Amino acid sequence: MQDGCGRTIDYLRLSVTDLCNYRCRYCMPEEGVCKRDHREILSVEECIEIAEASVRCGVKKIRLTGGEPLVRQGFLEICRGIRQIPGLEELCITTNGALLPELAKPLREAGVDRLNISLDTLRPERFAHMTRRGRLSDVLEGVAAAERAGFSGLKFDVVLIGGFNDDEVGDFIELTREHPWEIRFIELMPMGPCTGWDKRCFLPGNTILERFPALRQVEPQGVALRFQLPGAKGAIGLISPVSHEFCGQCRRIRVTADGKLKGCLHAREEISLRGLHGGELEAAIRRGILQKPLRHHLSERASDTPRTMNQIGG
Ligand code: SAM
Ligand code: SF4
Repeated sequence: MQDGCGRTIDYLRLSVTDLCNYRCRYCMPEEGVCKRDHREILSVEECIEIAEASVRCGVKKIRLTGGEPLVRQGFLEICRGIRQIPGLEELCITTNGALLPELAKPLREAGVDRLNISLDTLRPERFAHMTRRGRLSDVLEGVAAAERAGFSGLKFDVVLIGGFNDDEVGDFIELTREHPWEIRFIELMPMGPCTGWDKRCFLPGNTILERFPALRQVEPQGVALRFQLPGAKGAIGLISPVSHEFCGQCRRIRVTADGKLKGCLHAREEISLRGLHGGELEAAIRRGILQKPLRHHLSERASDTPRTMNQIGG
């Protein structure tokens, strides 16, 4: 359906947990989050029910996220339940990849169509530093497991952070010569723990085009501008929520793991979906779509949401 500004909304990002096995410095506090009573978090049945109601409201693509979705108990059940919804065209997951060595095959069997894997650095020490507890080798094994399980067209999400990984952009781009992957550079958004970081950390996506003039523009996809090295098997995506505000093309709504519908990642406004069923649930989702804010204000100030990214679902 269309929102109040005439945008077609057909994409739901559903967070299934706010917990994570990593503690990425820009996303989560070191101590993690207080583990909440499981009754505060959407049950398997509620996740599926919200997904069904969203599809009745016009959603065609659902991305499961978190926190880290793969640590969620009952996650395969959620995937299986959502994949069976008539009218849903695509079920995707955004994951840090650490548990893919065990879970890639079961996820494929549960009907998951696509994976986005977050990977901010190709250097083991930097990876351990940024995630505070992760091992790069686990993610690389996860990538291999995903390909063995039949996931094709893998996308990698790289948050571009000045002074941390901007010297690795060339290494990431080189990967696309031989691999049919899409490496997507995402501007760091000022929210949660990184809000007060030095402004040199917040690099505009355009920096990449200035440094790598060999990149040729190809068809855009969603909110990502896309580029390719001549003859490369893969592609490069640029997602620039701060410098190149793409709110006019935004087709998303989000539901947090505690059941709040958000029309915009950066807005304070939320609509609680807990306890609603059938027509009431659908009406609340339609209301959330109609009230989706026109735009965020990241070019003027930090995010308006008091939540950290793991509490919303990136
Ligand atoms: N744990 C999963 C993962 O890391 O892929 C899914 C949830 S995570 C919150 C989703 C995405 O949000 C990740 O790619 C992460 O790098 C990104 N992210 C988190 N905080 C961000 C920020 N401040 N600016 C830009 N991207 C951010
Ligand atoms: Fe966890 Fe993903 Fe946030 Fe990193 S970015 S702490 S992996 S939720």
